[in-house]
Amino acid sequence: MAEPAGLYIHIPFCARKCSYCDFYSVADLSLKNAFSKALAQEMRFYAGLAVPIDTLYIGGGTPSVLDPGEIECILTQARRCFNILPDAELTLEANPGSISAGSLSDYRRSGINRINIGIQSFQDRVLGFLGRIHSAEDGGESIRRARRAGFSNIGLDLIYGIPGQTDASWLSDLETAVSFGPEHLSCYMLSYEKGTPLELRLRQGRFKAMPEERVAGLYLKTTQWLAQNGYMQYEVSNFARPGPDGAGYQSRHNRKYWSFAPYLGLGPSAHSFLEPVRFWNPRSVQSYVDRLNAGRLAIEDKEMLTPRQQMMETILLGLRTTAGIRVDRFNEKFKLNFPDVFGTVLPELEEAGLLRMEKNRCFLTRHGMLLLDSIIDRMVRAGTEKI
Ligand code: SF4
Repeated sequence: MAEPAGLYIHIPFCARKCSYCDFYSVADLSLKNAFSKALAQEMRFYAGLAVPIDTLYIGGGTPSVLDPGEIECILTQARRCFNILPDAELTLEANPGSISAGSLSDYRRSGINRINIGIQSFQDRVLGFLGRIHSAEDGGESIRRARRAGFSNIGLDLIYGIPGQTDASWLSDLETAVSFGPEHLSCYMLSYEKGTPLELRLRQGRFKAMPEERVAGLYLKTTQWLAQNGYMQYEVSNFARPGPDGAGYQSRHNRKYWSFAPYLGLGPSAHSFLEPVRFWNPRSVQSYVDRLNAGRLAIEDKEMLTPRQQMMETILLGLRTTAGIRVDRFNEKFKLNFPDVFGTVLPELEEAGLLRMEKNRCFLTRHGMLLLDSIIDRMVRAGTEKI
């Protein structure tokens, strides 16, 4: 059987745009019905894809702005068009401001078996700064409701590195999150994405960003504190509780992105990767709908990854994970010898305590993960000289 693929569905709507967000979504819901029809059509176009699907992730945007009936239609159409395996992980992203007890029960009944809630913070000051539509109380209530609705696999997203945030206030957010016993936690550093209202306010000098060394300190505290409290780090920003198998409650879907596995992305702005081709849809609901209504695929552009690009991606994605790069697979795929290719950089990085080579894998230490971009840059430069 072919390697199972992931299916990602991008819901391009949010009740309101958060000030830091550069994901593609619009707060105008007038195209909601047109989008749903176009999505059903897009699935029909890809029906018969020769690979089974073992993870489906409905993200966005805010999927929970869709009625449970609309989510159910999406799932029904996905099951009709694709070979979704019986034990597939089916995740829905939800925001505390847009889920009710009833809708959560309906999502669960329609087959969603994992829910990822965008909590971001349990402090109203921070939520206000980020422009979130919900309160700290709403956040806690949404987790309780998800449990009551029967979700036994819940992920929470949190953000740190907020101006004015103290170590104590961040640790209190982590403690509150863990007190709900989520199976999965994603802890993201606040980043100032170009063109977002928050980045504009920063440039205007209306507040000061947290200094980098303080953010780094919070990152190290996060990994340490979560490890002490039963959450295993498996990627720069992702932590999971142990579970029935070795991978515990890691997000099976997100692991596909980091392991270079195939995935199909549907909806505006969604990206797909079916080796060696990457392709993506337009960042516009209107042009997505127009293209599908005109009877053609919505693809905006595509690129064929060269061996050099594939090597770069293998390094870039592999080093994000605590498992790191599998050396035997790398050697086999690129017909190279890993230690020879990176011989000029590995000893130095190991000596600096940033990277380790162990048995069959090459991975970054916690301190190395803080310098991820510059380490990747050095490795890619060394690697591309040899390919
Ligand atoms: S809810 Fe999520 S996707 Fe929507 S604007 Fe906020 S951060 Fe972005």
